[in-house]
Amino acid sequence: VFAALAQAPEDPILGVTVAYNKDPSPVKVNLGVGAYRTEEGKPLVLNVVRRAEQILLNNPSRVKEYLPITGLAEFNKLSAKLIFGADSPAIHENRVATVQCLSGTGSLRVGGEFLARHYHERTIYIPQPTWGNHPKVFTLSGLTVKSYRYYDPATRGLDFKGLLEDLSSAPSGSIILLHACAHNPTGVDPTIDEWEQIRKLMRSKSLLPFFDSAYQGFASGSLDKDTQSVRMFVADGGELLMAQSYAKNMGLYGERVGALSIVCGSADVAVRVESQLKLVIRPMYSNPPLHGASIVATILRNSEMFNEWTLELKAMADRIISMRQQLFDALKSRGTPGDWSHIIKQIGMFTFTGLNSEQVAFMRQEYHIYMTSDGRISMAGLSARTVPHLADAIHAAVTQ
Ligand code: PMP
Repeated sequence: VFAALAQAPEDPILGVTVAYNKDPSPVKVNLGVGAYRTEEGKPLVLNVVRRAEQILLNNPSRVKEYLPITGLAEFNKLSAKLIFGADSPAIHENRVATVQCLSGTGSLRVGGEFLARHYHERTIYIPQPTWGNHPKVFTLSGLTVKSYRYYDPATRGLDFKGLLEDLSSAPSGSIILLHACAHNPTGVDPTIDEWEQIRKLMRSKSLLPFFDSAYQGFASGSLDKDTQSVRMFVADGGELLMAQSYAKNMGLYGERVGALSIVCGSADVAVRVESQLKLVIRPMYSNPPLHGASIVATILRNSEMFNEWTLELKAMADRIISMRQQLFDALKSRGTPGDWSHIIKQIGMFTFTGLNSEQVAFMRQEYHIYMTSDGRISMAGLSARTVPHLADAIHAAVTQ
Protein backbone atom coordinates (compact mmCIF):
# COMPACT_ATOMS: atom_id res chain seq x y z
CA VAL A 1 0.00 0.00 0.00
CA PHE A 2 2.99 2.33 0.31
CA ALA A 3 4.48 1.50 -3.09
CA ALA A 4 3.95 5.03 -4.42
CA LEU A 5 5.50 6.68 -1.40
CA ALA A 6 8.14 9.28 -2.20
CA GLN A 7 11.54 9.14 -0.52
CA ALA A 8 11.66 11.82 2.18
CA PRO A 9 14.68 14.10 2.25
CA GLU A 10 17.24 13.76 5.06
CA ASP A 11 16.94 16.23 7.92
CA PRO A 12 19.15 19.21 6.98
CA ILE A 13 21.11 19.01 10.26
CA LEU A 14 21.08 15.31 11.17
CA GLY A 15 21.59 14.45 7.47
CA VAL A 16 25.06 16.00 7.70
CA THR A 17 26.07 13.21 10.10
CA VAL A 18 24.53 10.57 7.82
CA ALA A 19 26.73 11.83 4.96
CA TYR A 20 29.76 12.09 7.26
CA ASN A 21 29.35 8.48 8.42
CA LYS A 22 29.39 7.29 4.80
CA ASP A 23 32.66 9.10 4.00
CA PRO A 24 35.66 6.70 4.27
CA SER A 25 38.25 9.53 4.37
CA PRO A 26 40.58 9.42 7.42
CA VAL A 27 40.74 13.23 7.56
CA LYS A 28 36.97 13.81 7.66
CA VAL A 29 35.61 16.21 10.30
CA ASN A 30 31.98 16.49 11.41
CA LEU A 31 31.07 20.05 12.38
CA GLY A 32 27.40 19.56 11.61
CA VAL A 33 25.53 18.49 14.68
CA GLY A 34 25.75 20.49 17.89
CA ALA A 35 27.16 17.85 20.19
CA TYR A 36 30.19 18.35 22.39
CA ARG A 37 33.36 16.41 21.59
CA THR A 38 36.55 16.14 23.62
CA GLU A 39 39.92 17.32 22.35
CA GLU A 40 40.31 13.72 21.10
CA GLY A 41 37.09 14.04 19.11
CA LYS A 42 35.15 11.69 21.41
CA PRO A 43 31.66 12.14 22.91
CA LEU A 44 31.86 13.05 26.60
CA VAL A 45 29.91 11.60 29.50
CA LEU A 46 30.40 14.00 32.40
CA ASN A 47 32.01 12.50 35.45
CA VAL A 48 29.21 13.83 37.62
CA VAL A 49 26.68 12.07 35.39
CA ARG A 50 28.55 8.77 35.80
CA ARG A 51 28.52 9.30 39.56
CA ALA A 52 24.78 10.02 39.55
CA GLU A 53 24.15 6.88 37.50
CA GLN A 54 26.19 4.85 39.99
CA ILE A 55 24.11 6.21 42.87
CA LEU A 56 20.90 5.31 41.02
CA LEU A 57 22.23 1.84 40.23
CA ASN A 58 23.19 1.18 43.85
CA ASN A 59 19.78 2.12 45.17
CA PRO A 60 17.97 -1.21 45.73
CA SER A 61 14.59 0.46 46.28
CA ARG A 62 14.65 1.97 42.81
CA VAL A 63 11.85 0.72 40.58
CA LYS A 64 10.85 1.20 36.95
CA GLU A 65 7.25 2.30 37.51
CA TYR A 66 5.66 4.88 35.22
CA LEU A 67 6.25 8.51 36.08
CA PRO A 68 3.18 10.73 36.34
CA ILE A 69 2.09 12.44 33.09
CA THR A 70 3.96 15.56 34.21
CA GLY A 71 7.17 13.65 35.00
CA LEU A 72 9.38 13.54 38.08
CA ALA A 73 8.09 16.18 40.52
CA GLU A 74 11.47 16.88 42.10
CA PHE A 75 13.10 17.24 38.67
CA ASN A 76 10.44 19.79 37.71
CA LYS A 77 10.97 21.87 40.85
CA LEU A 78 14.76 21.82 40.51
CA SER A 79 14.59 22.65 36.79
CA ALA A 80 12.43 25.72 37.41
CA LYS A 81 14.85 26.81 40.13
CA LEU A 82 17.83 26.34 37.83
CA ILE A 83 16.42 28.49 35.08
CA PHE A 84 14.50 31.16 37.01
CA GLY A 85 16.77 31.33 40.08
CA ALA A 86 16.17 30.05 43.63
CA ASP A 87 14.87 33.47 44.70
CA SER A 88 12.49 33.87 41.76
CA PRO A 89 9.25 35.58 42.85
CA ALA A 90 7.29 33.48 40.34
CA ILE A 91 8.45 30.29 42.07
CA HIS A 92 7.76 31.63 45.56
CA GLU A 93 4.28 32.67 44.51
CA ASN A 94 3.65 29.20 42.97
CA ARG A 95 2.95 30.80 39.60
CA VAL A 96 5.06 28.34 37.59
CA ALA A 97 3.66 25.17 36.02
CA THR A 98 6.54 22.85 35.05
CA VAL A 99 6.26 19.54 33.20
CA GLN A 100 9.09 17.18 32.30
CA CYS A 101 9.28 16.76 28.52
CA LEU A 102 11.36 14.98 25.89
CA SER A 103 14.34 17.33 25.88
CA GLY A 104 14.17 20.78 24.32
CA THR A 105 12.31 19.66 21.21
CA GLY A 106 9.58 17.93 23.20
CA SER A 107 9.22 20.96 25.47
CA LEU A 108 8.80 23.26 22.47
CA ARG A 109 6.25 20.91 20.94
CA VAL A 110 4.16 20.52 24.11
CA GLY A 111 4.28 24.31 24.58
CA GLY A 112 3.27 24.84 20.94
CA GLU A 113 0.35 22.40 21.17
CA PHE A 114 -0.82 24.01 24.42
CA LEU A 115 -0.76 27.48 22.86
CA ALA A 116 -2.58 26.31 19.73
CA ARG A 117 -5.38 24.96 21.95
CA HIS A 118 -5.64 27.60 24.64
CA TYR A 119 -4.09 30.91 23.59
CA HIS A 120 -6.04 33.55 21.72
CA GLU A 121 -3.26 34.32 19.20
CA ARG A 122 -2.06 31.56 16.87
CA THR A 123 0.94 33.29 15.30
CA ILE A 124 4.47 32.69 16.53
CA TYR A 125 7.36 34.84 15.31
CA ILE A 126 10.72 33.10 15.13
CA PRO A 127 14.09 34.77 14.48
CA GLN A 128 15.52 34.82 10.97
CA PRO A 129 17.55 32.61 10.89
CA THR A 130 16.85 30.10 13.64
CA TRP A 131 17.33 26.42 14.51
CA GLY A 132 15.95 24.52 11.50
CA ASN A 133 13.47 22.50 13.52
CA HIS A 134 11.62 25.50 14.99
CA PRO A 135 9.32 26.20 12.01
CA LYS A 136 8.39 22.51 11.69
CA VAL A 137 7.72 22.02 15.41
CA PHE A 138 5.45 25.04 15.62
CA THR A 139 3.65 24.51 12.31
CA LEU A 140 2.82 20.93 13.29
CA SER A 141 1.71 22.20 16.70
CA GLY A 142 -1.01 24.12 14.89
CA LEU A 143 0.54 27.60 15.02
CA THR A 144 1.20 29.96 12.14
CA VAL A 145 4.90 30.67 11.85
CA LYS A 146 6.26 34.06 10.81
CA SER A 147 9.73 35.47 11.27
CA TYR A 148 11.36 38.59 12.64
CA ARG A 149 14.69 40.03 11.50
CA TYR A 150 17.55 38.98 13.75
CA TYR A 151 20.88 38.67 11.96
CA ASP A 152 22.61 41.18 9.72
CA PRO A 153 24.99 39.40 7.29
CA ALA A 154 26.76 42.70 6.58
CA THR A 155 27.90 43.18 10.19
CA ARG A 156 27.67 39.49 11.14
CA GLY A 157 25.92 40.81 14.22
CA LEU A 158 22.43 41.54 15.50
CA ASP A 159 20.00 43.43 13.27
CA PHE A 160 18.63 45.19 16.31
CA LYS A 161 16.78 47.89 14.39
CA GLY A 162 15.11 45.28 12.17
CA LEU A 163 14.23 43.18 15.20
CA LEU A 164 12.56 46.08 17.00
CA GLU A 165 10.70 47.14 13.85
CA ASP A 166 9.37 43.63 13.26
CA LEU A 167 8.31 43.12 16.86
CA SER A 168 6.65 46.56 16.81
CA SER A 169 4.58 45.64 13.80
CA ALA A 170 3.59 42.17 15.08
CA PRO A 171 -0.08 42.10 16.13
CA SER A 172 -0.58 42.58 19.86
CA GLY A 173 -0.58 39.26 21.70
CA SER A 174 1.57 37.41 19.16
CA ILE A 175 3.94 34.74 20.48
CA ILE A 176 7.64 35.55 20.11
CA LEU A 177 10.26 32.80 20.18
CA LEU A 178 13.48 33.98 21.85
CA HIS A 179 16.73 32.04 22.24
CA ALA A 180 17.66 32.52 25.91
CA CYS A 181 21.38 32.56 25.07
CA ALA A 182 23.89 31.33 22.48
CA HIS A 183 21.56 31.86 19.52
CA ASN A 184 21.60 28.93 17.10
CA PRO A 185 22.87 29.15 14.35
CA THR A 186 24.34 32.67 14.52
CA GLY A 187 26.08 32.75 17.92
CA VAL A 188 24.85 36.35 18.16
CA ASP A 189 23.00 37.41 21.33
CA PRO A 190 21.48 40.77 22.27
CA THR A 191 23.36 42.69 24.99
CA ILE A 192 21.65 43.16 28.36
CA ASP A 193 20.65 46.71 27.33
CA GLU A 194 19.17 45.39 24.11
CA TRP A 195 17.31 42.65 26.01
CA GLU A 196 15.84 45.35 28.24
CA GLN A 197 14.56 47.25 25.20
CA ILE A 198 13.13 44.05 23.74
CA ARG A 199 11.44 43.28 27.05
CA LYS A 200 9.89 46.76 27.33
CA LEU A 201 8.59 46.66 23.78
CA MET A 202 7.18 43.15 24.16
CA ARG A 203 5.46 43.87 27.44
CA SER A 204 4.02 47.15 26.14
CA LYS A 205 2.47 45.27 23.21
CA SER A 206 1.47 42.17 25.24
CA LEU A 207 3.66 39.96 23.05
CA LEU A 208 4.02 36.55 24.71
CA PRO A 209 7.65 35.39 25.16
CA PHE A 210 8.42 31.73 24.45
CA PHE A 211 12.03 31.17 25.49
CA ASP A 212 14.11 28.32 24.14
CA SER A 213 17.02 27.51 26.45
CA ALA A 214 19.17 24.79 24.90
CA TYR A 215 22.58 26.15 25.95
CA GLN A 216 22.37 27.37 29.56
CA GLY A 217 25.99 27.42 30.79
CA PHE A 218 27.47 27.12 27.31
CA ALA A 219 27.53 30.80 26.42
CA SER A 220 29.48 32.29 29.31
CA GLY A 221 30.29 29.16 31.30
CA SER A 222 27.98 30.45 34.07
CA LEU A 223 24.52 28.96 34.52
CA ASP A 224 23.14 32.12 36.14
CA LYS A 225 24.62 34.55 33.65
CA ASP A 226 23.25 32.61 30.68
CA THR A 227 19.70 32.99 31.91
CA GLN A 228 19.80 36.73 32.63
CA SER A 229 17.56 37.47 29.66
CA VAL A 230 14.89 35.10 30.95
CA ARG A 231 15.07 36.39 34.51
CA MET A 232 14.49 39.96 33.32
CA PHE A 233 11.20 38.82 31.83
CA VAL A 234 10.24 36.95 35.01
CA ALA A 235 11.21 39.85 37.27
CA ASP A 236 8.63 42.13 35.67
CA GLY A 237 5.85 39.84 36.87
CA GLY A 238 4.66 38.97 33.36
CA GLU A 239 3.87 35.62 31.78
CA LEU A 240 6.09 33.50 29.57
CA LEU A 241 6.87 30.00 28.34
CA MET A 242 10.23 28.33 28.79
CA ALA A 243 11.55 25.23 26.99
CA GLN A 244 14.61 23.88 28.75
CA SER A 245 17.03 21.19 27.56
CA TYR A 246 19.71 19.22 29.40
CA ALA A 247 21.08 17.74 26.17
CA LYS A 248 24.11 20.00 25.87
CA ASN A 249 24.79 21.34 29.35
CA MET A 250 24.66 17.92 31.04
CA GLY A 251 25.61 15.96 27.93
CA LEU A 252 22.37 13.96 28.19
CA TYR A 253 21.53 14.17 24.47
CA GLY A 254 20.08 10.70 23.97
CA GLU A 255 18.36 10.56 27.35
CA ARG A 256 15.89 13.18 26.09
CA VAL A 257 15.50 15.18 29.25
CA GLY A 258 14.02 18.66 29.39
CA ALA A 259 11.21 20.71 30.86
CA LEU A 260 8.48 23.10 29.82
CA SER A 261 7.67 25.80 32.35
CA ILE A 262 4.81 28.23 31.99
CA VAL A 263 5.03 31.29 34.22
CA CYS A 264 1.45 32.29 34.92
CA GLY A 265 -0.33 35.31 36.39
CA SER A 266 -1.36 33.54 39.60
CA ALA A 267 -0.99 30.25 41.48
CA ASP A 268 -4.57 29.40 40.66
CA VAL A 269 -3.98 29.79 36.91
CA ALA A 270 -0.78 27.69 37.15
CA VAL A 271 -2.79 24.77 38.57
CA ARG A 272 -5.26 24.94 35.67
CA VAL A 273 -2.48 25.33 33.11
CA GLU A 274 -0.82 22.18 34.44
CA SER A 275 -4.10 20.28 34.23
CA GLN A 276 -4.40 21.24 30.55
CA LEU A 277 -0.76 20.36 29.83
CA LYS A 278 -1.57 16.85 31.03
CA LEU A 279 -4.30 16.61 28.39
CA VAL A 280 -1.75 17.59 25.73
CA ILE A 281 0.85 15.06 26.90
CA ARG A 282 -1.28 12.00 27.67
CA PRO A 283 -2.33 11.18 24.08
CA MET A 284 1.14 12.06 22.71
CA TYR A 285 3.45 9.81 24.75
CA SER A 286 1.57 9.24 28.01
CA ASN A 287 4.44 10.10 30.34
CA PRO A 288 8.15 10.90 30.03
CA PRO A 289 11.16 8.62 30.61
CA LEU A 290 12.54 8.09 34.11
CA HIS A 291 16.28 7.66 33.79
CA GLY A 292 17.49 11.04 32.53
CA ALA A 293 15.29 13.02 34.91
CA SER A 294 16.59 10.89 37.83
CA ILE A 295 20.18 11.73 36.84
CA VAL A 296 19.40 15.46 36.71
CA ALA A 297 17.54 15.43 40.04
CA THR A 298 20.40 13.51 41.70
CA ILE A 299 22.89 16.17 40.58
CA LEU A 300 20.77 19.26 41.20
CA ARG A 301 19.67 18.26 44.72
CA ASN A 302 23.22 17.68 45.98
CA SER A 303 25.34 20.84 46.34
CA GLU A 304 28.65 19.01 46.01
CA MET A 305 27.56 17.28 42.78
CA PHE A 306 26.04 20.53 41.53
CA ASN A 307 29.40 22.23 41.99
CA GLU A 308 31.19 19.45 40.17
CA TRP A 309 28.73 19.84 37.30
CA THR A 310 29.37 23.59 37.04
CA LEU A 311 33.12 22.94 36.83
CA GLU A 312 32.74 20.32 34.11
CA LEU A 313 30.35 22.60 32.23
CA LYS A 314 32.79 25.50 32.45
CA ALA A 315 35.55 23.24 31.11
CA MET A 316 33.41 22.42 28.06
CA ALA A 317 32.57 26.10 27.50
CA ASP A 318 36.24 27.07 27.88
CA ARG A 319 37.39 24.46 25.37
CA ILE A 320 34.95 25.87 22.83
CA ILE A 321 36.18 29.42 23.47
CA SER A 322 39.74 28.22 22.98
CA MET A 323 38.75 26.62 19.65
CA ARG A 324 37.39 29.99 18.52
CA GLN A 325 40.72 31.64 19.26
CA GLN A 326 42.71 28.85 17.58
CA LEU A 327 40.62 28.97 14.41
CA PHE A 328 40.81 32.74 14.28
CA ASP A 329 44.60 32.65 14.73
CA ALA A 330 44.98 29.93 12.09
CA LEU A 331 43.07 32.00 9.49
CA LYS A 332 45.05 35.10 10.38
CA SER A 333 48.35 33.29 10.01
CA ARG A 334 47.26 32.05 6.57
CA GLY A 335 46.31 35.58 5.55
CA THR A 336 42.85 34.34 4.60
CA PRO A 337 40.98 37.28 3.00
CA GLY A 338 38.12 38.73 5.05
CA ASP A 339 37.40 39.83 8.59
CA TRP A 340 37.12 36.73 10.77
CA SER A 341 36.70 38.50 14.10
CA HIS A 342 33.12 37.20 14.34
CA ILE A 343 34.61 33.78 15.10
CA ILE A 344 35.83 35.08 18.47
CA LYS A 345 32.89 37.43 19.02
CA GLN A 346 30.09 34.91 18.52
CA ILE A 347 28.83 32.99 21.53
CA GLY A 348 28.05 29.37 22.36
CA MET A 349 28.47 26.20 20.40
CA PHE A 350 28.35 27.54 16.85
CA THR A 351 30.10 29.91 14.53
CA PHE A 352 28.07 31.29 11.68
CA THR A 353 31.02 31.52 9.34
CA GLY A 354 29.48 33.51 6.51
CA LEU A 355 30.55 30.80 4.03
CA ASN A 356 27.96 30.27 1.32
CA SER A 357 26.46 26.95 0.24
CA GLU A 358 28.90 26.58 -2.71
CA GLN A 359 31.86 27.06 -0.40
CA VAL A 360 30.34 24.58 2.05
CA ALA A 361 29.94 22.03 -0.77
CA PHE A 362 33.52 22.66 -1.91
CA MET A 363 34.87 22.03 1.59
CA ARG A 364 32.93 18.79 1.86
CA GLN A 365 34.09 17.62 -1.56
CA GLU A 366 37.74 18.60 -1.31
CA TYR A 367 38.47 18.55 2.43
CA HIS A 368 35.86 16.13 3.86
CA ILE A 369 34.62 18.79 6.25
CA TYR A 370 30.93 18.48 7.05
CA MET A 371 28.69 21.39 8.15
CA THR A 372 25.18 22.62 7.48
CA SER A 373 24.70 24.39 4.15
CA ASP A 374 24.15 27.76 5.87
CA GLY A 375 27.85 27.76 6.84
CA ARG A 376 27.27 26.99 10.51
CA ILE A 377 30.09 25.08 12.20
CA SER A 378 29.94 23.43 15.60
CA MET A 379 33.02 24.67 17.46
CA ALA A 380 32.54 21.77 19.89
CA GLY A 381 33.46 19.35 17.10
CA LEU A 382 36.89 20.96 16.58
CA SER A 383 40.22 20.19 18.24
CA ALA A 384 43.79 21.47 18.07
CA ARG A 385 44.44 18.63 15.61
CA THR A 386 41.61 19.53 13.20
CA VAL A 387 41.83 23.36 13.33
CA PRO A 388 44.68 23.58 10.75
CA HIS A 389 42.78 21.32 8.33
CA LEU A 390 39.64 23.46 8.69
CA ALA A 391 41.64 26.68 8.28
CA ASP A 392 43.24 25.26 5.09
CA ALA A 393 39.78 24.37 3.80
CA ILE A 394 38.27 27.79 4.56
CA HIS A 395 41.27 29.50 3.01
CA ALA A 396 40.93 27.40 -0.15
CA ALA A 397 37.16 27.95 -0.28
CA VAL A 398 37.36 31.75 -0.11
CA THR A 399 40.33 32.08 -2.46
CA GLN A 400 39.35 29.51 -5.13
N1 PMP B 1 16.58 24.59 20.55
C1 PMP B 1 17.75 24.90 20.00
C2 PMP B 1 18.04 26.31 19.68
C3 PMP B 1 18.67 23.89 19.70
O1 PMP B 1 19.83 24.23 19.15
C4 PMP B 1 18.36 22.56 20.01
C5 PMP B 1 19.33 21.45 19.72
N2 PMP B 1 20.11 21.55 18.64
C6 PMP B 1 17.12 22.29 20.60
C7 PMP B 1 16.26 23.32 20.85
C8 PMP B 1 16.63 20.93 20.98
O2 PMP B 1 17.51 20.02 21.39
P1 PMP B 1 17.09 18.73 22.21
O3 PMP B 1 15.71 18.35 21.78
O4 PMP B 1 18.11 17.73 21.87
O5 PMP B 1 17.11 19.16 23.64
